[in-house]
Amino acid sequence: MQTIDDLDVAGKRVFVRADLNVPLSGTTITDDGRIRAVAPTLAKLVAAGARVIVASHLGRPKGKPDPQFSLAPVAVRLGEILGQEVVFAADTVGDSARGAVDALADGQVVLLENLRFNPGETSKDDAERGAFADSLASLADLYVGDGFGAVHRKHASVYDLPARLPHAVGLLIAAEVAVLKRLTEEVERPYVVVLGGSKVSDKLGVIDNLLGKADRILIGGGMAFTFLAAKGYEVGSSLLQADQIPTVLEYLERAEKNGVEFVLPVDAAVSGSFPDLKAQAPVEDFEVVPADAMPAGKGGLDIGPASCELFAAKLADARTVFWNGPMGVFEHPAFAEGTRAVARALSEGDAFSVVGGGDSAAAVRILGFDEKTFGHISTGGGASLEYLEGKTLPGLAALEN
Ligand code: ADP
Ligand code: MG
Repeated sequence: MQTIDDLDVAGKRVFVRADLNVPLSGTTITDDGRIRAVAPTLAKLVAAGARVIVASHLGRPKGKPDPQFSLAPVAVRLGEILGQEVVFAADTVGDSARGAVDALADGQVVLLENLRFNPGETSKDDAERGAFADSLASLADLYVGDGFGAVHRKHASVYDLPARLPHAVGLLIAAEVAVLKRLTEEVERPYVVVLGGSKVSDKLGVIDNLLGKADRILIGGGMAFTFLAAKGYEVGSSLLQADQIPTVLEYLERAEKNGVEFVLPVDAAVSGSFPDLKAQAPVEDFEVVPADAMPAGKGGLDIGPASCELFAAKLADARTVFWNGPMGVFEHPAFAEGTRAVARALSEGDAFSVVGGGDSAAAVRILGFDEKTFGHISTGGGASLEYLEGKTLPGLAALEN
């Protein structure tokens, strides 16, 4: 792979595919980690006299402009972090973007509007994606791939565009890959993997591969309830992937055969409804129940205090930890304790700990932990999981050729 040092960027229009998909509350950025993570690449290009065109997706708009997913607030924050003006283009390949790019002087930066406002970005149709990539390519001379959180997506700006321009890998992707590589090669044992979050079906696949690598797998978050249901427990209105129960049973069986320890929550914090994240109102019917005695009318929104203790104990002797997915709905204080317990165990422990996932990484910072007390906080959740699964990531493959 070429790095940005291999490119002659002075005076050139350099398209940087970043991952600026930050959590927003209205137009307020609640965690700017992904913006800070790509800043060194952008600063380096600026210092080298490039005309920098930054592009990203934000959220999941439906292929057309949707103001709630505008990158406008990100342009402001990026400008603050870089210490220079970041021009914001109100579209991606329209008049605003072209005008802004044409007006760029060496060392200046423009951020394009959300790539996913254009249906070509995520299209499954090669021709439609290719046409969008052609338009993007006409804006630039060179391409730098640095949106690690999106490299597992076969999207126009990630996969098709680098094929159309001389390209290189950015500093962030290079650093992310170096860390993940360490987890796929010789790991120091015990190697403990902690999985949680809400994208259950996306994440179950990684377990298949981890059964041959990890010594211990801790399951929390929404995913835990599919495991508890597989054991025959009532899970009430918890997140449940009922069609995956056979898969989960097979994992449990294989784990036992391979000597991999599976650790499931022994209790859960439950409520009859999803908490109000905006108002952060107290949860009137909050209750902690044993994992095998969940009430039918309520759902599990966090692991309980006994599970927190259990998980911390199971992390205490770890030498390597990979964690993806919050243990509960940490965005509400009533359901943040499980995530806090895992974060604390990693922060205070001396294992080489890698935290992957947009929400997991944000949780660590929002709950007030010092990033420096973790081995590595990755900007990519799905991307790091797929890397660990041994899959070919389209955005990395595209940078290799
Ligand atoms: P990441 O971004 O770290 O990969 P995910 O996107 O899979 O993680 O999941 C993060 C989300 O999971 C958080 O917004 C959190 O509120 C939610 N979550 C965690 N536990 C539960 C649960 N038991 N039920 C519903 N949602 C949950
Ligand atoms: Mg997420």
